[in-house]
Amino acid sequence: METTPPSPEATTHAARIQAALTQPARVHLEPGFAWDGQDAYLFDIDGTLLRDPNRIHFNSFASSIQRVTGFEVSLDGVPIHGSTDTAILRDACRQAGIPAEVLKPQVEAILEAMCQRVAEQRHELKLRLMPGVKDALRHLAQKGALLGVATGNLETIGWIKIEEAGLREWFRFGGFSDHFPVRAELIGNAARKARELAGADARVCVVGDTPRDIEAARANSLPVIAVATGNFSFDTLLELRPEVCASSLADLLAQTQVMP
Ligand SMILES: [Mg+2]
Repeated sequence: METTPPSPEATTHAARIQAALTQPARVHLEPGFAWDGQDAYLFDIDGTLLRDPNRIHFNSFASSIQRVTGFEVSLDGVPIHGSTDTAILRDACRQAGIPAEVLKPQVEAILEAMCQRVAEQRHELKLRLMPGVKDALRHLAQKGALLGVATGNLETIGWIKIEEAGLREWFRFGGFSDHFPVRAELIGNAARKARELAGADARVCVVGDTPRDIEAARANSLPVIAVATGNFSFDTLLELRPEVCASSLADLLAQTQVMP
């Protein structure tokens, strides 16, 4: 492990986590939408279910690009939140001036190196669950819903996080960015998997923490539950008119007055 002091960006990151977790409880529910009555749910991971305070996944981009190509890259200025691993890799390399023809034959090796790096460090992840996550998953499962993850993470990395966070038992399937750099396509693919398992007419709902989750749901004509536990405020998310907007899943559950 590197022992360099935290970067200004990491400090901001920590402050954002704290701000997200200390915001007042707020919930917006669109009338007529049964947030806990859908047939299947596609949960985003980062900022929705959990956080990676040690930034092991984040740091794996630069270290893996460097290891495979020899190029030094920075993720400063690269859109991260709501993006996908495969798009972040492309954007970081483009920003660093790595020619596409140099990158292309090495993409698979870089992605493999990222998965390997996170796997090697999985016990250092120290993931932090967002408020109410386990209770919300239990509540939805008890209501008979099919639960899946739909995340911009690579598949190997996404499942490692879910396992290390102790959430694996809840999820029956997943959609990942390995073959889908565009989030809307990733969500579309995950929704198809949900309907293969839950039925062709299954009502599928996206749960996410960024404007991109909402846009990707809309692109697939799916309803969306937005939670302000990531880097975007309740008001910012609410402006995009999700069916549900909540300061956290805990606050959403509290509002619902779940029966024991
Ligand atoms: Mg997210």
